[in-house]
Amino acid sequence: MDADRENGIAIVGGGPAGLAAAEWLAGAGRPVTVYERMPSVGRKLLIAGRGGLNLTHSEPMPDFLERYAPVDPRLPAAVEAYPPDALRAWCDELGQPTFVGSSGRVFPESFKASPLLRAWLARLDRLGVVIRTRHRLVGLEEGALRFETPEEAQVVRPRAALLALGGASWPRLGSDGAWVPLLEESGVAVAPLRPANVGFRVAWSAHFAGRFAGEPLKRLAARIGATSARGEAVATADGIEGGVIYALSRPIREAVERDGVAELVLDLRPDLDAGALTARLAKSRPGESLSTRLRKAASLSPAAIGLLREAHANALPSEAAALAAAIKAAPLRLGAPAPIARAISTAGGVAFSELDAQFMLRARPGLFLAGEMLDWEAPTGGYLLQAAFASGRAAAKGMLAWLDRQP
Ligand SMILES: Cc1cc2nc3c(=O)[nH]c(=O)nc-3n(C[C@H](O)[C@H](O)[C@H](O)COP(=O)(O)OP(=O)(O)OC[C@H]3O[C@@H](n4cnc5c(N)ncnc54)[C@H](O)[C@@H]3O)c2cc1C
Repeated sequence: MDADRENGIAIVGGGPAGLAAAEWLAGAGRPVTVYERMPSVGRKLLIAGRGGLNLTHSEPMPDFLERYAPVDPRLPAAVEAYPPDALRAWCDELGQPTFVGSSGRVFPESFKASPLLRAWLARLDRLGVVIRTRHRLVGLEEGALRFETPEEAQVVRPRAALLALGGASWPRLGSDGAWVPLLEESGVAVAPLRPANVGFRVAWSAHFAGRFAGEPLKRLAARIGATSARGEAVATADGIEGGVIYALSRPIREAVERDGVAELVLDLRPDLDAGALTARLAKSRPGESLSTRLRKAASLSPAAIGLLREAHANALPSEAAALAAAIKAAPLRLGAPAPIARAISTAGGVAFSELDAQFMLRARPGLFLAGEMLDWEAPTGGYLLQAAFASGRAAAKGMLAWLDRQP
């Protein structure tokens, strides 16, 4: 076994959390090896780049931190220590300047992840970080990590290790949640992995599904209980997905877990108040069909009209104020979430109660954790990547401090 493996630091998982930790530790002069089960690192980061790579968000820090749940002070503390401006400065240094989009979301000007990842890997290489791909962690013995490789099994005994194995969404990109039993067998509590930022089932009529599956529903507001969001959605053959649904996916999922269904209320004209919408609807010509009124006076798309009819079981009032009220509060019953494999991210993970303030497992001194494998979730909007980078850094700093205290 090579010396670096015996004495160095092992980082398992080459996603943003693991690579951020590797960069920090190698920058501090430590010998670092990253072990990754796939043939290349950063696959989920690259997929995020397909949507323009929403790296973080520009909203004020108190609002930013509110996005994370369940609330454990360690994650917000990590984000405050490595905030969006620091992530943006890091991108700049890698030759990938960022900008704030109209929604407050932050993207690289290139709208891509690949140039950023390329520049990052070149920096890691200059720092001496060794990356060993096709190494799958399959065993966590006391002080030792066991890997399966295409050739032979390998046992590594690093001075300290960090696991950043991701969640369980999009498993073909590498993060498949197969680490859960490994940690549970070591006595570590793991909250069940569940889909987050995900679509939900809707029992559409055959007519609606046949006509409108795949159709976007623009400019929506949706609320469940006291939580609301605005954005877009897409009807699918058996459900609904898209930004506004993802933003509410935690309360929706919790309602489904509790009650079997979730009652969502959609506002199909959130930009008009009920009075203005009533006035428009009242102006329509006598004899005009309901569909024409909804299309012309309320400017609803055919898909939105279809959804309105579904929501109100095809029994829409004709009186203007009542029709406006129906448009502004269309109830939709949602069922089970789509499978975790189709979710953008994962809720659940290793309980924070298992970690000390430095992201080290209390039960396994020298073993640190970071990223999406921890028990937190957040909506889309850049909060996921920000927390992956920030927790990777925090765990790396914690590891350095711990190493400095070792004889
Ligand atoms: C389609 C899509 C779009 C997204 N878009 C955005 C976005 O725009 N903005 C945003 O903030 N977030 C986005 N996300 C989420 C974001 O990509 C993740 O939250 C982030 O990548 C998590 O980082 P991580 O390092 O914790 O885990 P990951 O990126 O999942 O990395 C974990 C790594 O560990 C490796 N691994 C797993 N198990 C083992 C093992 N046993 N042995 C060795 N290696 C292992 C995996 O192969 C993987 O490379 C998106 C996700 C998806 C799926």
